[in-house]
Amino acid sequence: MKDIILIGSGFSSLSAACYLAKAGHNVTVYEKNATVGGRARQYERDGFTFDMGPTWYWMPDVFERFFADFGKKSDDYYKLKKLSPAYQIYFGENDSIVIPSELSDITAVFEAVEKNSGKKLNDFIASAKENYEIAIGELVYKPGVSITELISIQTLKKIGLFFSTISKQVSSNFKDQRLIRILEFPVLFLGAKPSQTPAFYNFMNYADFGLGTWYPENGMYSVVRGIQTLAESLGVKFYLNSAVEEMHVENKKITSVTINGEKVYADIILSGADYHHTEKLIPQQYRNYTEKYWQSKTFAPSCLLFYVGFDKKIERVLHHTLFFDAEFESHAKAIYDTPQWPQNPLFYASFPSKTDKGCAPEGNEAAIFLIPLAPGLPDTDDIREKYFEMVLTRLENLTAQSLKASVLFVEYFGIRDFVSDYNSYKGNAYGLANTLMQTALLRPGIKSKKLDNLFFTGQLTVPGPGVPPALISGKIAAEMIEKNIL
Ligand SMILES: Cc1cc2nc3c(=O)[nH]c(=O)nc-3n(C[C@H](O)[C@H](O)[C@H](O)COP(=O)(O)OP(=O)(O)OC[C@H]3O[C@@H](n4cnc5c(N)ncnc54)[C@H](O)[C@@H]3O)c2cc1C
Repeated sequence: MKDIILIGSGFSSLSAACYLAKAGHNVTVYEKNATVGGRARQYERDGFTFDMGPTWYWMPDVFERFFADFGKKSDDYYKLKKLSPAYQIYFGENDSIVIPSELSDITAVFEAVEKNSGKKLNDFIASAKENYEIAIGELVYKPGVSITELISIQTLKKIGLFFSTISKQVSSNFKDQRLIRILEFPVLFLGAKPSQTPAFYNFMNYADFGLGTWYPENGMYSVVRGIQTLAESLGVKFYLNSAVEEMHVENKKITSVTINGEKVYADIILSGADYHHTEKLIPQQYRNYTEKYWQSKTFAPSCLLFYVGFDKKIERVLHHTLFFDAEFESHAKAIYDTPQWPQNPLFYASFPSKTDKGCAPEGNEAAIFLIPLAPGLPDTDDIREKYFEMVLTRLENLTAQSLKASVLFVEYFGIRDFVSDYNSYKGNAYGLANTLMQTALLRPGIKSKKLDNLFFTGQLTVPGPGVPPALISGKIAAEMIEKNIL
């Protein structure tokens, strides 16, 4: 049995904590914030409840696989509901497409927009399903240490898909720009432009149309609470308001860490805090990567979020509503190519009180708005207010209703909060993007190259951004620790 310190309590740490405790170790989680969950924290105000980070529960099979490793099911901790319809996308005034919950109905929606696209969609999703089975069934659970992990008869058959892109694949099959945008949307979760994301990643389209969009009762935070409950039942201890401030090295090992001014000793350290930040806690000569390395990487976007309480119900929107009524290319350019605030951003809105009465007082609506942004941009109150005004005006015009006078409150969360609350590199929201050159063994490694007992987990290492990958990352890190036990 080893004494293991886990830094941070995001999904990856929570997952790793469960596996390590099950393996018989003495696991203690130290979290800098006042609540667990990391980027998936919850915000409550005046009877409204908001998930601060993730709102889309995709890939339910990955959650079930996680719980099954402990002889449990998600249902032991939270109730899931499949959203029907799944979501809605606005392309302009009186121009929106609603995505139903079942593939057969989605096919009919496509066919109505573009002749013969229904059959093409079925073929596209069938290939996406094959990729999903290869990727999620097997590949993403690999530790990212050797190229051989990626080589199998199945992956060799798909090799061409690693050198083509989602954009090329989608636009060679579909002509209507709205359908193209819909099919390019799921890979945005991986943090890079569809034109930079390998076509193999169309498995995200199967996650979307094949497996559906789910909602855990009381929001994504019930998943955090559920896994924390599981971890505690396995003996994991949690300390909140406990930032790890420094790590002390002797003989190629971390012997202790400083927390709130006190030294705490352990055999093994696993950090689920952002990788770049974790490395700053150790002397420079023991770091895996230089500042230049991090600067050269494609980071997933940051974002500006608004958590808003409205004093009435909002019409003509669904639980998940995307506003793609602006030009995608110029917004993507402002995120990835020439980082700047976008002139006319695409944005996403979630209205959890459409599904869950507990999220807002009766007759009111809880709303979360998200604008993706380049990490590292200046983030001032004036800019935030300007974009809130812009988003509300667009929402009013597109959905033909007045809303500004119904705002009870707005709480902002943006780039500077990602830095101060999560020690995030340049305020990134979703970690390191999954481009071809940042996949598997080409991502920052789980095991320190220079210190024998330091390990990393989370969205900057393998497999990448998102809640399901975070659960998988925790499992991979725990397995790596077991293999390297000293
Ligand atoms: C706005 C937003 C929307 C998203 N939407 C979705 C979605 O709909 N679906 C989806 O699947 N994914 C979504 N994601 C991505 C997903 O939430 C993340 O990939 C995942 O939660 C990351 O988990 P993690 O464990 O890697 O990191 P984190 O959640 O960031 O956890 C790291 C933890 O370490 C703590 N920490 C940092 N420094 C220290 C220190 N020195 N000492 C102690 N603790 C420290 C931090 O406070 C934090 O709690 C979203 C993310 C954001 C931000």
